[in-house]
Amino acid sequence: LVVLGIETSCDDTAAAVVSVISACVRSNGEIMSQVVSSQADLLAQYGGVAPKMAEEAHSQVIDQVVQEALDKAKITEEDLSAVAVTIGPGLSLCLRVGVRKARKLAGIYALPIVGVHHMEAHALVARLVERELQFPFMALLISGGHNLLVLARDLGHYIQLGTTIDDAIGESYDKIAKWLGLDLRKSGGPAVEELAREVRLAIESRNIDAGIPVSSASDEDRRVRADIAASFQRVAVLHLEEKCERAIEWAMKMEPSIKKLVVCGGVASNQVVRARLNQIAEKSGLKLVCPPPSLCTDNGVMIAWTGIEHFHMGRYDPPPPACEPEDAMLDLRPRWPLGEEYAEGKSEAR
Ligand code: ATP
Ligand code: FE
Repeated sequence: LVVLGIETSCDDTAAAVVSVISACVRSNGEIMSQVVSSQADLLAQYGGVAPKMAEEAHSQVIDQVVQEALDKAKITEEDLSAVAVTIGPGLSLCLRVGVRKARKLAGIYALPIVGVHHMEAHALVARLVERELQFPFMALLISGGHNLLVLARDLGHYIQLGTTIDDAIGESYDKIAKWLGLDLRKSGGPAVEELAREVRLAIESRNIDAGIPVSSASDEDRRVRADIAASFQRVAVLHLEEKCERAIEWAMKMEPSIKKLVVCGGVASNQVVRARLNQIAEKSGLKLVCPPPSLCTDNGVMIAWTGIEHFHMGRYDPPPPACEPEDAMLDLRPRWPLGEEYAEGKSEAR
């Protein structure tokens, strides 16, 4: 199987090709190419994602991004077995761009099409990198729009154990970055993480160079901002740790065979988050699985891989008509929840 994955749910236009020998879907997924075009400049300019602008930016680059993914994989459309595309959750104007592109290709080349849940993809890409990751497992999904603790029981079968009633943690990182006046072209999270790191470095260097006065007025300003960044990060991550620990306890009662904790989504690329949640996992007797940073933030690989998993189970749509009208109704699910919420009694029975 050779699957093209397309992702346009928010502010990254991404495509990738992933292949697998179909007889053995779990053992040999190979990333053939991965291309991401980010809208960081737009984000910096508008201080957030403006749907109409984002849609235009996706439309401008989508053809090029997909072509580049095929070229890098050294294949053409004819070599594909299927196209996978994010159909939700996300901004409908943006989702539309990816879904149109996917349907156009699928129509012309008579390819089956797999509609992918963006958050399921964030979680399942962990199964591409960690071959031994079997269901059921525990997952903490931390991204720009979600804070979710889920028990992943099976492909397409998730139970939400907890979520945020406020901003997702990635959104909080982005707001703090904006408030601290950081360079948003890097996206908020990495900028706050980098600044917070200076606090530890400053403490270390103060110890080493004790007594040497180095601070100027502007250093002092930077130090205050670094202290704020580090304090925010400490509290935000502590919150994740506490909730995660409680959810693991709960999930283990439902599924005692759980062996792994998956931490995924953009915020999972944060080194402090990874280190602290590794400790929580170890304390609970679980192994932490965290995809590499490039597979934590939005990417086409996770969409292609999740497409492969569903395709393998026979869950896909037949090729759309070759000349679908531009205004055809599309199956977009901008508010698609991941699985069901935990309800006592109900979720207990499989
Ligand atoms: P969702 O997946 O919920 O739809 P999204 O796709 O916009 O939202 P992702 O691309 O998964 O989110 O993640 C982006 C978020 O991750 C941003 O809020 C960004 O600030 C945050 N992020 C990225 N890297 C880091 C980091 N190193 N530390 C903290 N946060 C980070
Ligand atoms: Fe995402």
